[in-house]
Amino acid sequence: MPITDPEKKRIAQQARLVMKICFSCGARNDINATRCRKCRNPFMRLKNRNLGIKK
Ligand SMILES: [Zn+2]
Repeated sequence: MPITDPEKKRIAQQARLVMKICFSCGARNDINATRCRKCRNPFMRLKNRNLGIKK
């Protein structure tokens, strides 16, 4: 089912692409997370991709 509302689509893409990646184990974490949910490592990098990349 395609999403027709452009605003909702933008929010959905944001939620999918903006996250944090743990340096230690590579797990994906919430953007608001301060520690990795898997190994409790506080060192995480941002995974920020530009929106609008679509094939
Ligand atoms: Zn981790």
